[in-house]
Amino acid sequence: MDHYFGTRDLPLLLKTLGANYQHELVGERLITTPRHFAYMKISEGCDRPCSFCAIPLMRGMHVSKPIEQLVSEAKLLASKGTKELLLIAQDSTYYGLDIYKERRKKTYQLIEKFKEKIPGIALRTTMIAGYPGETEKDHQEMIDFIKDVRFDRLGIFEYSHEENTHAHLLHDDVPAAVKQERVAAVMAVQQSISAAINESKVGKVFKVLIDRKEGNYFIGRTEADSPEVDNEVLIEAKDVYLKAGSFTKIKITSAGEFDLFGIPV
Ligand code: SF4
Repeated sequence: MDHYFGTRDLPLLLKTLGANYQHELVGERLITTPRHFAYMKISEGCDRPCSFCAIPLMRGMHVSKPIEQLVSEAKLLASKGTKELLLIAQDSTYYGLDIYKERRKKTYQLIEKFKEKIPGIALRTTMIAGYPGETEKDHQEMIDFIKDVRFDRLGIFEYSHEENTHAHLLHDDVPAAVKQERVAAVMAVQQSISAAINESKVGKVFKVLIDRKEGNYFIGRTEADSPEVDNEVLIEAKDVYLKAGSFTKIKITSAGEFDLFGIPV
């Protein structure tokens, strides 16, 4: 027999499988990442009306996890060896609005402070190419915007015409080949920005979390980089040993478009 469960139906799912829901085990996790880092979902769903997106239809309205629950989950993970927590959500900027009725003003103050005190703070964004009606001029505006802001990380997707979204009412008029060209054009601009940003890191020292050894290199990440999708720091394994899960100070000696090379200091 088939059953359907919503994203928040864990107690019902367990009951259907004949298991007990034990409240005291909430927060217990079997993590599938290496032990030294873990993803922590701070909320589920989304209340935004982005016309191209089907996520609110699939995941439901935004529900934040209470801070106390997040803190105890974080403590539990830390006690088991997690050193880096990556907070994720469909819309992390909306966190707290549903249960606390305000964004944590403190977060905004903190971001302002970061910008003031850390000019090198890493900014990231994701864009869409080929939204219905997007003209060549619109595309050029996007390129100019990216050049002006110089995001540290940028991803871009081709617009996909999803049923039941608001945008599905529009005519999907940008041909697939044009969408691909626009994605490629944006990525080419971002590559040169990324290369210049990386080049500016040569000679500087960063705190690097070592993830693994691969071939002749230990591989880690700076605090601005997420696993699997961002830059990595490669350290030649010839004369050094670096433990996976440890923080090490690394001086950057050379840089490519998406990776950095360095030595321990
Ligand atoms: S998940 Fe992101 S893109 Fe989708 S509606 Fe929410 S904010 Fe918009």
